[in-house]
Order: sequence, then C-alpha cells, then structure tokens
Amino acid sequence: MEKKIKYGVIGVGHLGNFHIKQLLKINSVDLVGIYDENKQRLDEISKNYSVHKFDSAVSLLEQVDAVSIVTPTTTHKDVALLALENDCHVFIEKPIADNVESAQQIQNKVRALNKVAHIGHIERFNPVFKKFQERAHKPLFLECHRLSQLNNRSMDISVILDLMIHDLDLVMHIVDSPIKHIIADGINVVSQSIDLANVKLTFENNCVANLTASRISDKNMRKIRLFENNCYTSLDLLNHKISKHFANFSKSEGKLNFKNEQIAIDNYDALKAELENFCNSIINNNSDFSNMDYSIRALEVALEINNIIKLKSN
Ligand code: NAD
Repeated sequence: MEKKIKYGVIGVGHLGNFHIKQLLKINSVDLVGIYDENKQRLDEISKNYSVHKFDSAVSLLEQVDAVSIVTPTTTHKDVALLALENDCHVFIEKPIADNVESAQQIQNKVRALNKVAHIGHIERFNPVFKKFQERAHKPLFLECHRLSQLNNRSMDISVILDLMIHDLDLVMHIVDSPIKHIIADGINVVSQSIDLANVKLTFENNCVANLTASRISDKNMRKIRLFENNCYTSLDLLNHKISKHFANFSKSEGKLNFKNEQIAIDNYDALKAELENFCNSIINNNSDFSNMDYSIRALEVALEINNIIKLKSN
C-alpha cells in the first residue's frame, strides 16, 4: 500500500470540524492530530472524532507532512508561514489572507520551498460548477447572488472577503478577460465592516457581472445566472441544480420558441473533492501554483471593492 500523508488540522471551529470529518474518509490521509488555541473546543473535537490533540501548533507541525489551516482569516499568514517553515504542505481556507502583502509573503515562501499550497475556494469543486465547466461558454452578462443568514462567524472581514470572494473567483474563471471597471456599493448593518454589497464588474471584452452578497439575509442563496447568445443558464450552487433555457427563432412560425432543459448533477461532497485534490497534488509532487495565483487575483479584486466602498463612505 502507498505511504499515507501524515496530516494535521489547525483551527477546529465551524469549518475545521468538517475538514476532520472529510479527511477521515480519504484513504491517502493519516490524520495524526489537531490543534486549536481554544482548549475547550480542542478537547471537544478531539473526543468527538477520537483524534489526537496537540498542545501547540509547532508540536503538531513537527509530526505531519501537510496541514489544513482553518483559523480566522487574519491569522492565516502567521499560521501558514509557521507551517511552511516546518516543512509542511498547506491547505489554507479562503480567503488566503486579509491583505495582499500577507498573501504575497505566503506565495513567496511556498515558491521558495517548492511546497504544495491550495486555497479553499470550495465552489470551484461544487458539482454544479464542475458540470457547468464541461462546456465552453461565452457569457455576455452574469448575475450572482450569495445571501447568508447571520451567523456571527468571519466578522473579522467584510462580506466581500467572506462571501463575495467565492463568486469573484468563479466569475474570473468563467470570463476570460481582464476587469476594466468596478462600481461598488455596500453598507455596515450589524458589524464594523461591510455586511451587504452590490458590485458591477465590466470586463475588457464588455461582459458585465453584477454581484450581490449579504450576510444579514433571512435565507440562504447561492445562485449564478448567465446570459449568452440565445441562451440563459441558471446555476443553483446551494440546491445543486442547473437549468438551461434556449431561445430559437422559427422562421416558419414567425416567432421565438423556448426550450428548457434541466441538467443532471452528480452528487458528491465538494470539501472532500477539494481535499482529495490537494492530497493528490502532494502524492504526484504537483506544486502547480495556479491555484494560489487565482486566489490572490480574487483577493486583489475583493480588496479593491472594499476600498471603493470605504472611499464612498468617508
Ligand atoms: P471559527 O471561528 O468557527 O473557527 C476558527 C477556529 O480557529 C476557532 O476554533 C479558534 O479558536 C481557532 N483559532 C483562532 N486562532 C487560532 C490560532 N492562531 N491557532 C490555532 N487556532 C486558532 O471560524 P470558521 O467559520 O471555521 O472559519 C475559519 C476559516 O475558514 C476562515 O478563514 C473562513 O473564511 C474560512 N471559511 C471558509 C468557508 C468556505 O466556504 N470555504 C466557509 C466558512 C469559513
């Protein structure tokens, strides 16, 4: 049998819990242990999964080849640099960091040490997005809605870095053109940061993306609607549905006919797929840095949006 990857998880809060759950299902992983600075949470999760707890990040890092970093975004840089200095491959939850300088420090260290680094942009692994990507698209206009009920997590960053960054990342994967212009509005409602934002991106090829993100909604929604010549596609990333609507002008009837199609979606866990992809990159010695480069691009745009909104409110 192949040698397993000795794996650790740092930060076992809301999402760290799911990392453990999925890592335990991956054959190539030997989950050596976990660490969290909150001792009570560390004890609870260690007991729940019967997984070894370490009393410091370094003592865990010394025992593993790879680590998931699932701590608050503002801590990613320090934890990631520590992990890299301890010769570990890193899976860092999104966003990679809360500022570009920190992201670049991580990027430089990853490249210098030639380690594998993946950033947790889970929606790239959403079965809906994977299915959608099977065909080429030429979007003219996109509409993204990502609404979340208030949950009190990730309040250290704005809704743009917390939620909208998922759609920024997807849109930049879909639209193969640089961004020409950004219009952005946003408001603080319950936190010191932006809780609700609406953004219009215009690309060099004149495609337009209109994105709305809110963490103060009464319901959850993750939808992308995409308009191409004679075709409208609706992606429901939350409920795993894709519908396509084609318009076709019938000369004989002298009118537009519409054909609707529901696309079948494979059902699998996106987090497991994402972590397996990271593990496969380690096993195959594939330190393709594009995963991290795309994440930094999305962070740069997210921070630019933050600044545009801040300047308006000053
Ligand atoms: P959380 O607050 O529930 O958990 C964070 C945990 O990290 C806590 O248990 C805390 O005690 C621990 N911690 C804080 N600083 C630490 C340190 N220096 N060392 C060790 N442990 C430390 O937060 P969460 O919702 O799990 O979010 C964690 C990260 O995951 C954030 O970066 C967030 O943006 C990201 N996230 C990504 C997605 C996604 O869709 N990919 C979803 C949710 C959260």
